[in-house]
Amino acid sequence: MSLATEAPLDGKAAVDASLRWVNRYAKLGPAFHTTLPPQPLPQPYWVGQSRSVGQALGLPENWTESEDLLQALSGNRPLAGSQPVATVYSGHQFGVWAGQLGDGRALLLGETESGLELQLKGAGRTPYSRMGDGRAVLRSSIREFLCSEAMHGLGIPTTRALCVTGSDAAVRRETIETAAVVTRVAPSFIRFGHFEHFAANEQPEELRRLADFVIDHYYPACRGTPKFAGNAYAALLETVSERTAALLASWQAVGFCHGVMNTDNMSILGLTLDYGPFQFLDGYDPAHICNHSDTQGRYAFARQPNIAYWNLFCLGQALLPLIGEQELALAALESYRERYPAELETRLRAKLGLAQQADGDRELVEDTLRLLAAEKTDHTIFWRRLSHFAADGQAASVRDLFLDRTACDAWLHRYEARLAQQDRQQASASMLRCNPKFVLRNHLGELAIRQARDKDFSGVEKLLALLAHPYDEHPGHEAEAGFPPEWASSIEISCSS
Ligand code: AMP
Ligand code: MG
Repeated sequence: MSLATEAPLDGKAAVDASLRWVNRYAKLGPAFHTTLPPQPLPQPYWVGQSRSVGQALGLPENWTESEDLLQALSGNRPLAGSQPVATVYSGHQFGVWAGQLGDGRALLLGETESGLELQLKGAGRTPYSRMGDGRAVLRSSIREFLCSEAMHGLGIPTTRALCVTGSDAAVRRETIETAAVVTRVAPSFIRFGHFEHFAANEQPEELRRLADFVIDHYYPACRGTPKFAGNAYAALLETVSERTAALLASWQAVGFCHGVMNTDNMSILGLTLDYGPFQFLDGYDPAHICNHSDTQGRYAFARQPNIAYWNLFCLGQALLPLIGEQELALAALESYRERYPAELETRLRAKLGLAQQADGDRELVEDTLRLLAAEKTDHTIFWRRLSHFAADGQAASVRDLFLDRTACDAWLHRYEARLAQQDRQQASASMLRCNPKFVLRNHLGELAIRQARDKDFSGVEKLLALLAHPYDEHPGHEAEAGFPPEWASSIEISCSS
């Protein structure tokens, strides 16, 4: 343990000493960002705090009580050694080239020795704010905070969130709301759109510097590989394609809809990035559109894997000047088409508790999804109940989820026959470790947000505790693991945040 982490956080100096900055992205130079301070957030208060992220950053235990850190993470005073910048990127939004975008309300404070970058989302206007006010509202900040930590708890690659700080400062959306700042944490916030930006602006030197930066810092194995005739940029595209394939398989297996899979919201590290109108499925509906602003359903649940490929194609286009040969770029992208179905099958087999391959497994997996889609059966509850059924053979709790009992019985019969080929207790134990009991359903987030508007943050804290360990039983919290209430289907989540 370093001296810094032992120091009490009882003053600015101690807070500042606990974070040692290296700021590698800022060193890329002015073509990549604009240096500017955050905009102060008046009279901030803590809304939510993740102790495990604090630990990852090497913050002392008592950071959660530090007034100095609260002020710093609300943009009210600089952290010594940080070097705040807003980064520039471009991108395709809803399938259309949108030109320059950039961090319009996020400010990268820098990177610490932990290898993690800190970013304040909602920290005020930047040169990339366009018509926006640079702010984020309390509801969307709570959703981002909780979902980041929920995804991490599920074992799905994601940016993390250290905390949310709120203020009574007014922010205008459809109605007047209040402002908040999320402190996001990740090894890098570089997006596909950062590459698209320099490619579209015909800045080959900057494009190369960015690609070299990503390879050197995050994917050093891309250099010196015999693959692609030693072309490191093709290897980069392949690696990102593989990471994205694994990410998408994780989303589809857990029933996560991102909602705005624009290329500027795609992480070069394959992390879930930019939580806006996301949703965990209640009923299993492949056509589900979680984003009220997505009138065409471009980002409907079942379309996500193809959209990811489309986005990778945009990244491939952007990297083409570096890769040189179109065939190499296409070969690198091909890895997504191979990897995604394999990754998904692995996860779905695990959800069913099928340890060894057997004939007919693929059909069983496909028919399971068909069965769920037929009645839009509750996704999370089905898989969790099935995990218990694998051990105890009590079919009632699974059958209760279906109106068409004949179809359910036929499926259960097949599934039991397949389970008989292996140890049911073991299957159940492993299923309970990959079929969560708790996911951040819209209505759960909504209830915590309503409380938080009245300055009661206990709902946020309770959900964080459940979602950080979503595979545990958490006795006494059956309500949070139950069916959504009637009103949940009327919650409208849009791009407005
Ligand atoms: P998003 O749809 O959240 O991925 O944002 C797309 C672009 O709009 C990014 O460049 C954001 O920085 C920018 N943006 C979104 N909301 C705001 C806001 N309130 N103020 C300034 N820029 C924003
Ligand atoms: Mg975004």
